[in-house]
Amino acid sequence: MDSHLPEYALYAIRYAERDARRADHFIGGDPHDGPMPMDYFVWVAIAPHRAVVIDTGFSAEVAKARGRRHLRCPIEALSLIGVDRDAVKDVVLTHMHYDHVGNFHRLPNADFHLQEVELHYTTGRHMRHPFLARSFEVEDVVGIVRLNFERRVKLYNGPAELAPGITLHPVGGHTPGMQFVRVHTSRGWVVVASDVTHYYENMESGRPFTAAFHIGDMLDAYDALRAHAASPHHIIPGHDPLVMRQYPAPRPELEGVVVRLDVMPRE
Ligand SMILES: [Zn+2]
Repeated sequence: MDSHLPEYALYAIRYAERDARRADHFIGGDPHDGPMPMDYFVWVAIAPHRAVVIDTGFSAEVAKARGRRHLRCPIEALSLIGVDRDAVKDVVLTHMHYDHVGNFHRLPNADFHLQEVELHYTTGRHMRHPFLARSFEVEDVVGIVRLNFERRVKLYNGPAELAPGITLHPVGGHTPGMQFVRVHTSRGWVVVASDVTHYYENMESGRPFTAAFHIGDMLDAYDALRAHAASPHHIIPGHDPLVMRQYPAPRPELEGVVVRLDVMPRE
């Protein structure tokens, strides 16, 4: 049992959205093409002694440039769940795509936890290919390099325990240095999959998402999510609007903005 571990409150904050179609989200398209919108989230784990932010979203400027609907600054939104951004000491970066790694300059006292392979990837030879590079903002990549020189990036080469009750799990697939996060809550371990699976359906149907570095690793990563979760209800995909429908808001006025993930989903 893990009864000695702290139990974190766990939240998803929805900060942006876009319209999309089913064929956008599955390699090989989809025979029943129709609307399949995408939500954008950051996640926050809170225990009495610490708050860990998982990913940092993108800014309003990047949203405008990329045609996304920016709903709120995800870092300013931390205050909605009682987190002072200046007090945040630890940020997990699941990977360095633009929708997960912007806004780092708004967390001036945080260290950033990242798989080293991801930093190599984003500064290496593959970035000369527009197909792969388009998912990154070069200023984000340069910014993380600068933070590393400031000794504010903790680079990992494998699984790690960030703190009791928070563990990191590299898998590759979507990007070479992709990692997911397990958070210990009152309902057991919850797997924050981030873009290991964008939608529940990618994982459930074994049909990989269109933005892929290594398809075989992506399919293996769906198995890794299941292996680390007590049930499929303990896995939280990175971009699925179903998350907002299946989990409750912490307060009525946060409906559509924040949901609690440390309780079981509605059926
Ligand atoms: Zn993403």
